[in-house]
Amino acid sequence: VFNFSAGPAVMPLPVLEEAQRDLVALPGVGSSVMELSHRGKTYMDIHADAKARLVSLLNIPDTHEVLLLQGGSRLQFSMIPLNLLKGTDKTADYVLTGSWGKKALEEAVKEGKTNVAWDGKSINFNNLPSQSDLKLTSDAAYVHITSNETIQGVQFQSIPEVGNVPLVADLSSDFLSRPVDVSKYGIIYACAQKNAGPAGVTVVIIRKDLMEHASGDLPGYMVYRNHAENDSMWNTPPTFGIYLLGLVCKWLQEEFGSLEKLQAHNQAKAQLLYDAIDQSGGFYLGHAVPEVRSKMNVTFKLGDDDSDKKFLAAANELGLTQLGGHRSVGGVRASIYNAMPVEGVEKLRDFMLDFKK
Ligand code: PLP
Repeated sequence: VFNFSAGPAVMPLPVLEEAQRDLVALPGVGSSVMELSHRGKTYMDIHADAKARLVSLLNIPDTHEVLLLQGGSRLQFSMIPLNLLKGTDKTADYVLTGSWGKKALEEAVKEGKTNVAWDGKSINFNNLPSQSDLKLTSDAAYVHITSNETIQGVQFQSIPEVGNVPLVADLSSDFLSRPVDVSKYGIIYACAQKNAGPAGVTVVIIRKDLMEHASGDLPGYMVYRNHAENDSMWNTPPTFGIYLLGLVCKWLQEEFGSLEKLQAHNQAKAQLLYDAIDQSGGFYLGHAVPEVRSKMNVTFKLGDDDSDKKFLAAANELGLTQLGGHRSVGGVRASIYNAMPVEGVEKLRDFMLDFKK
């Protein structure tokens, strides 16, 4: 089966095989990797290794801290305004490019003043703003963007210019799929369950000075500083998820070497499907305008709901699974994260050509 789920998503096979072995007993240790105290050396080495691999893959500078948290990206929708906005008289700018940006804003409005810097609703979130479209607040607490909108399949190709204001970016669905210049961001966050591991661990990369603002009366878990000061062991970390995150990073390093190479690979993979859409003479209708198409989530429709259903059922029969669009938009969505092999994408492309015939 080739599984095109948007997340939790397909994992690299070598990672699953290594995890299968270690789940019963880690070689040389004799306990399951899930049974290790987070204070013991074996786990501490796994923890440090996962962080070091992230730092190496993403070239994370010393100015930024890597936190390995729980609560998914949706907890970040709250933690960010709690730490950076609450208790200030500043405004946070939100760029709404799809469903997830909207949900992030819904949490931020509970914590302080917000401004919608751009809203793609009137164009059904099929395009992204140009720099001059953005209505940014001067001296904002931060500007929030969603790097890749998983549901609509639109992805920033370059990041907006925001001056000295911290740029906060939700990279949940394109984390580790292409290089990012971490120094340009105040915060990057990503739940792991698409490109980086299983659900349950969330990576937050935060500029160190931004952790100073949070007031002491927040619940302890919500304060970034607590996690940073305790090497992400303020409470018991999601040890098994972090172990898998480390294995996924190792796999990326061994398989691709660098995120530049991986980006080229991901572009070529996505192009197979976009070509099938563009050369279908309107049989397949892509959602995003070509310039902002996501390399991770390819979204399209057929002429009507009935044809979408027939397409999905026939694909499923061939072992091309979980291709249904998000329940809020329907249609078809092929999520082709790092671990989706080229053969899977080729099989889908061939099916698209056959189905059209
Ligand atoms: N942001 C984006 C872009 C997502 O795709 C998702 C999940 O699909 C989320 C946030 C929410 O992540 P979680 O379910 O881990 O809270």
